[in-house]
Amino acid sequence: MSRRSIPRCFNQAKRLSFPLPYSRSRPFSISAPRRMNPLMETSGFSDTQLQVREAIAKICSNFPDEYWAAHDESGEYPHELHAALSKDGWIGIALPEDLGGSGLGISEATMMLHTISESGAGMAGAQSIHANVYATQPVAKFATPEQRQRMLPNLINGKSRVCFGVTEPNTGLETLKLRTRAVRDGDNYKVSGQKIWISSAQVASNMVLLARTTPLEEVKKPSEGLSLFFIDFDKNQPGLELKKIKKMGGRAVDANEVFFDNYSIPSDSLIGKEGQGFKIVLHGMNAERCLLAGEALGLGYAALYRASRYAKERIVFGRPIGMNQGIQHPLADAYMHLEAAKLATYHAARLYDQSRTDETITLAAVGVACNSAKYLAAEAAFKACERSVLSLGGMGYAQEYHVERYLRECFVPRIAPVSREMIMNFVGEKVLGLPRSY
Ligand SMILES: Cc1cc2nc3c(=O)[nH]c(=O)nc-3n(C[C@H](O)[C@H](O)[C@H](O)COP(=O)(O)OP(=O)(O)OC[C@H]3O[C@@H](n4cnc5c(N)ncnc54)[C@H](O)[C@@H]3O)c2cc1C
Repeated sequence: MSRRSIPRCFNQAKRLSFPLPYSRSRPFSISAPRRMNPLMETSGFSDTQLQVREAIAKICSNFPDEYWAAHDESGEYPHELHAALSKDGWIGIALPEDLGGSGLGISEATMMLHTISESGAGMAGAQSIHANVYATQPVAKFATPEQRQRMLPNLINGKSRVCFGVTEPNTGLETLKLRTRAVRDGDNYKVSGQKIWISSAQVASNMVLLARTTPLEEVKKPSEGLSLFFIDFDKNQPGLELKKIKKMGGRAVDANEVFFDNYSIPSDSLIGKEGQGFKIVLHGMNAERCLLAGEALGLGYAALYRASRYAKERIVFGRPIGMNQGIQHPLADAYMHLEAAKLATYHAARLYDQSRTDETITLAAVGVACNSAKYLAAEAAFKACERSVLSLGGMGYAQEYHVERYLRECFVPRIAPVSREMIMNFVGEKVLGLPRSY
């Protein structure tokens, strides 16, 4: 089937008949919208993106804010959301159809993650699936046909899950200095080293791993000598240990330290050429920035919806608090920042998708757009979440109103997968031509 043909999950979305997303005559409720948030302007999106949004919103309506608040409290993994999305074929939204995916692009995948987050699921809901969407992109592009068939269908049908292993405790954002080694040993590689902040490692049975195959001192450029692997992540095999990290938000999805000690992986876990892993993984990293931008937007719109509803209803000094410009203007400002970041986000996703077939769109242009979008969306989300908490006054601090959870979670897109500061370093150097500052 060609990319233009109708994919499985897309078909499903078309078959279902959805109720009107939102009715202005509905009685006031400060709970999140049951289907789709009316605040986000949907003009200009493609029919496919809108159908993705509608179908995902319908699935997410079975997982209300209370579900996410309870899972945040207990730290229990949201297995049910992953199951519901994989059952309907959504995990493979941006993976090829010959593997069971839908063959759509990052533009549609971003809309999917955006809508999940916006439903009130926030970063926890989005992060429970997002590595399966972006970390698989370089595998789909650079693996051999045999590897793709072996590695991807079970992720798409939900039988297995993948985590993404890049960050290390001793190198931080200096990815080119990664120390985890994969040393060739006959038909295997032996992996030794430590990763940190690996999301979903407790539930994943595979990992997309970036490790050094040639020591830094022996390569011409630091970007060489890193290799990408798709490995079985078998916690019963010797040489692999995990330690959970207690964290501020998104607690339903585990974050972990991962320790490798001569952990054996077959040599056919290598994706693409040995030593070329950094270039290969960039393909997934740019996709991840778009998805995270979408997730941040979702949180921002969700928070703003709650705040604007509350500000309309809450009467103090004889009038709705939203009648005060001190409440109204910051919310209006937050809305405009979200809308601007939304344009940047979907522009970046479109460039990413078009660059597959249009050689005039360079990797550098895609990188600048994806990084800028992630930065802008994260900042807009933070503004919206912070102002929502303040607009709700004391109730903004109460768990039952959910905006405090959104605020805690909206720090993630500001920090990961790349920080605000590093994005500014990148734009300063690569776009403005200023001296490299790091
Ligand atoms: C919830 C969560 C989930 C995550 N999931 C994953 C995952 O699944 N897989 C994975 O591989 N990683 C994951 N990460 C890791 C994440 O990508 C890193 O935390 C992030 O890249 C920042 O790296 P660091 O924490 O080592 O920061 P550091 O490199 O230690 O930087 C600390 C601070 O210093 C600043 N800084 C450093 N150098 C400079 C400079 N030259 N100029 C200006 N500022 C500078 C940074 O911007 C940052 O603010 C996750 C992180 C979080 C919080």
